[in-house]
Amino acid sequence: MAGGHHPILAGIAGWPVAHSLSPLIHATWAKRAGINGYYIPVAVPPSYEEFARGMDAVRTLGFAGVNVTIPHKEHALRYADAASDAAARAGAANMLTFGAEGAFADNSDIAGFAAAVREKSSVPGASALILGAGGAARAVALALQNLGVARIDIANRTREKAGALAKAFGLSLVGWSDRSEALAGADLVVNTTSLGMSGEPPLHIDLSLMRTSAIVADIVYSPLETPLLKAAAARGNRTVDGLSMLMHQAGFAFRQWFGGEPAVDDELRAMLVDELKRRGRM
Ligand code: NAP
Repeated sequence: MAGGHHPILAGIAGWPVAHSLSPLIHATWAKRAGINGYYIPVAVPPSYEEFARGMDAVRTLGFAGVNVTIPHKEHALRYADAASDAAARAGAANMLTFGAEGAFADNSDIAGFAAAVREKSSVPGASALILGAGGAARAVALALQNLGVARIDIANRTREKAGALAKAFGLSLVGWSDRSEALAGADLVVNTTSLGMSGEPPLHIDLSLMRTSAIVADIVYSPLETPLLKAAAARGNRTVDGLSMLMHQAGFAFRQWFGGEPAVDDELRAMLVDELKRRGRM
């Protein structure tokens, strides 16, 4: 049995963290592969000092690594001794791997989102529109560039934040009030705002100018079919939901810490959908 008598330990650090689906994803893969391992949610209060203390503690316990979620993705990069190009360019990390040389920061949100899009279509040369300019938008912009998307427009409620991303990554700035018009030129539209999430207002956007060939992605996964995805599917657009990104980013972490080939498949998806329903989040 991989992990032997000493279980492999990993986890997710965030605040809050109890809602995370990652422990269930990793436990499922560990069980399937017969790996002696545990993936544990670790609640770490918001400050950098608390984060650093929390990371020191899990390293003392022998953790192989942790995923990092809100509000610690930038703290993870600061805490690390070294970082991948992806994490450095994104300015944030969702993975810390602990080894003899120290803590290594990586960002599998980028490859996770790219893998989710690749499941539906190949997009080299395409035009994309990103809505939102938070941490996830940075990962999505890098993923789209890695996929060979030729032109990326970005719109965000707070214009300065979209402007900063546009400057950093060579994107084109679109006004938030012009988002519906900007759909006309897009082959791929990605919502990276928290609008549409349970408990948040919906994303108000008029889809009538969007091509029917365009792909619409939403990285929000609770509910799984956001009002945006529902409206897009109803007019015949292909959609990519936030669960695909979540499962794929988890796969990179699982391979790194537990080993083996974690499958992102229908069985895993069905189990996560059941769990979201059980929690009343769909
Ligand atoms: P963030 O850094 O806090 O950014 C939030 C974004 O939402 C900003 O662009 C913000 O605009 C926008 N926003 C929030 N309320 C708004 C409103 N009322 N009107 C217009 N825009 C609004 O968060 P994040 O880390 O990027 O995460 C964003 C979402 O992605 C979350 O729902 C998160 O759960 C999800 N996510 C999913 C995955 C996955 O694997 N599926 C991975 C990462 C994140 P302003 O700049 O104007 O405030």
